[in-house]
Amino acid sequence: MIIVLREGASSRETDGLMDFLTGLGGLSVHPVPGEEQTLWGVTGDTGRVDVSRIESFSCVERVLCATAPYPLASRASRPEGTRVQIGSVTVGGPRLAVIAGPCSVESREQILRTAQAVRRSGAAILRGGVLKPRSSPYAFQGMGLEGLALLKEAHEATGLPIVTELLSVRDFDRFIEEVDCVQVGARNMQNYELLRLLGKTDKPVLLKRGLSATLEEWLMSAEYILAGGNPNVILCERGIRTFETCTRNTLDLSAVPAVHHLSHLPVMVDPSHGTGRRWMVSPLARAAVAVGADGLIIEVHPDPEHALSDGAQSVDPAQFDELMRGLRAIAAAVGREL
Ligand code: PEP
Ligand code: MN
Repeated sequence: MIIVLREGASSRETDGLMDFLTGLGGLSVHPVPGEEQTLWGVTGDTGRVDVSRIESFSCVERVLCATAPYPLASRASRPEGTRVQIGSVTVGGPRLAVIAGPCSVESREQILRTAQAVRRSGAAILRGGVLKPRSSPYAFQGMGLEGLALLKEAHEATGLPIVTELLSVRDFDRFIEEVDCVQVGARNMQNYELLRLLGKTDKPVLLKRGLSATLEEWLMSAEYILAGGNPNVILCERGIRTFETCTRNTLDLSAVPAVHHLSHLPVMVDPSHGTGRRWMVSPLARAAVAVGADGLIIEVHPDPEHALSDGAQSVDPAQFDELMRGLRAIAAAVGREL
């Protein structure tokens, strides 16, 4: 870290900053006096320093950071990359992990039928929301916690591990007990209380990118879970808010190589929420695999026209089967298997 001191700063001011820095512990300060401006090089565990505290000193002009503010999530902390185990499925290895299932669990028949179908097509994990974060309070809010028993039944029938979204800390214990992987939705990416609780477990967490989150903000959220002691974090790019209105969100595929560069965590892509349009799901799933995603999460509904949520972006089982077939050649071309 380099601290650029304000020209003409008094020694009383800079002494105060020096006291603050040495008081943090584990840092060494190396002053580099210049003709006009003085720089302080700071070495040590700078990734854990709250830079805004330094910026608040009146003698500070600017702070330049060379290390990421997410030391545990950064690629440097685990150059070989991380693999996360969800039941018998490994995320982050040579085999792509495909999560598929309806946006919402709607009925026993719906989730069982979907689970059987996606398993036949090669999905490795079943998704299905029981508590839904909807933009409108009048829209279907999910069938509630009874849906967890239906997901369990679908798991028993197919062997597929379950991922479902935890909306609030209130239901934390139930989810830890009953699901294989906890999804933190885009709207909850910065629910730090929830992230901190998940950090105290070893439950795999699928951490979706916030609607307008930068990569740094997203990785800082992952850092909360890692800092609590839970290494099992999978990131999921699900589209971000831009000026474009043709698609529901703008799927930021550049996030995949960027995250792989910045972090050791596996990253999945959600082309369903990323586009909002059924006919775009397959082409963007192919693009996601080509760009190096470690897996996909795709909404599949047996009757998308009558889905209670996100029908417009849901594919039916036949379309999902075709999508999976199309992915194989692309996976092989980038050295992955399906
Ligand atoms: C979902 O997976 O159904 C969902 C609500 O996703 P997101 O949090 O990405 O909007
Ligand atoms: Mn959805």
